[in-house]
Amino acid sequence: MPAKAGIQGHTHRPRDSWIPAFAGMTVERSPVEFRDDQLRRYARHIILQEVGGVGQARLLESRVLVIGAGGLGSPLLLYLAAAGVGTIGVIDDDTVDLSNLQRQIVHATSRVGQPKVDSAAATLAAINPDVAVERHARRLTADNAAQLVATYDIVADGSDNFATRYLVNDACFFAKKTLVSAAILQFDGQLTTFKAHAPGDHPCYRCLFPAAPAGDALATCSSAGVLGALAGTLGALQATEVIKELLGIGRSLSGELVLYEALSTTFRKLKFKRRADCALCGNQPSITSLAGYAA
Ligand SMILES: [Zn+2]
Repeated sequence: MPAKAGIQGHTHRPRDSWIPAFAGMTVERSPVEFRDDQLRRYARHIILQEVGGVGQARLLESRVLVIGAGGLGSPLLLYLAAAGVGTIGVIDDDTVDLSNLQRQIVHATSRVGQPKVDSAAATLAAINPDVAVERHARRLTADNAAQLVATYDIVADGSDNFATRYLVNDACFFAKKTLVSAAILQFDGQLTTFKAHAPGDHPCYRCLFPAAPAGDALATCSSAGVLGALAGTLGALQATEVIKELLGIGRSLSGELVLYEALSTTFRKLKFKRRADCALCGNQPSITSLAGYAA
């Protein structure tokens, strides 16, 4: 069987593990043991050579932190849970509001007023009991970011403001965690992956945006609006990139920014590089810890 890149130790098609051995034929024992219900649940993953039993087992052992249980966080959480990412952390200090439900599809009308992390956890438990949800009903701050990020394998940022995005970027850089980041506003979305801690030419969020835009560029979804389905498009792309990074398959989005314009239905990709003068990952960084942090 030809070996495919990405999954180490993947020596045969994983679906062999649930095909009975023919009499007299030696079949290598699968290194991964799944329950029967897991074989059924994840069959469409396991049959993919790039995922396989080994990859699915890796997802089940993975820990992903999702920043924000809002528009982007909703599809992210739904698809990560459905994919069998074994432990999903979600941090959000907000409660479900009726105005959220136009796009925040992990929540429900019956849960208006409840903490978003509780509402999200209830939905994810209903989708996939394999998944443990770690609820963090608080704001991400410079005081708690490092400790929180350190316990996860990868971080997905679905926050809605520049201060949090800089904080998440810096915390991930110091903790050497890959960060998959997305943003949406009105009819437009952006998506990229940051791994500036890794060897090679990998930029960080501050390489892309050295300073937060001023004035109109600081418009938020609450003040400027957002098409609800756009959150689904970008959140699903973000979940895909998280899964790719966890499995080490395909081409990483590091150093490339995807721009999606819903009204013209166009995707564009812009390349960007690490900046030698970046305040965080540059040659002479001015930000060397989260202590005394000001976004
Ligand atoms: Zn940088």
